[in-house]
Amino acid sequence: MIITIDGPAGSGKSTAARTLAVRLGFDYLDTGAMYRAIALALLQQGFDLENLPPHLPLDHIQIDMRPPLVFLNGVDVTQAIRSAEVTAGSSKVATHAEVRQFLVEQQRKIAQGRNIICEGRDQGTVVFPRAERKFFLTATPEARARRRLSDLLARGEKTDLETVLRIQEERDRRDASRHLSPLRPAEDAVVIDTTPLTLAEVIDRLERDIRG
Ligand code: C5P
Repeated sequence: MIITIDGPAGSGKSTAARTLAVRLGFDYLDTGAMYRAIALALLQQGFDLENLPPHLPLDHIQIDMRPPLVFLNGVDVTQAIRSAEVTAGSSKVATHAEVRQFLVEQQRKIAQGRNIICEGRDQGTVVFPRAERKFFLTATPEARARRRLSDLLARGEKTDLETVLRIQEERDRRDASRHLSPLRPAEDAVVIDTTPLTLAEVIDRLERDIRG
């Protein structure tokens, strides 16, 4: 059984997907982490992510998803892919056709024959159009930025709401306006506005829906 949870940054989808996977005894796939790993790999190789050539040396990039860890060519990059540079870079590499094709193929392979919750931007629309259950989480930009700010502050980063909002808007715009697999809910997705909800309420709501 495949369950997809898509939505913008800060919608609560990552934490919800992870917790729900534990409750249901499902595996979990954070597809955003895979775009982040590609961004990191290309930055390490000296590519300018704003001006990527149409063909990229992706065959040399090996990503191993071992939740909660992410490995890039055998190196644990779980922390490194959360930097501000990689975060901004991930939505740039996500507009690249070869990158999307490369990762979609891997995501389908990982999910094959498993009970899994796949979380990202295009899981319900493009990668698993026949998933048994699809969710799309949203929240107001301000609510999302506040959640992200508290995550960043908890990690010891120095930033403020205005900066987080500005960076978030830029990433939202790139994700929603890109030509390939833009961020949008699948027609058969259950759309949940998480603005007035606590994370626990979001997870309960998803679990009730799935257990039906
Ligand atoms: O979810 P996360 O913030 O880690 O995703 C990083 C970036 O990867 C997003 O801003 C988006 O551009 C891209 N992404 C995507 N498709 C997915 C998951 C993430 O394009 N399924």
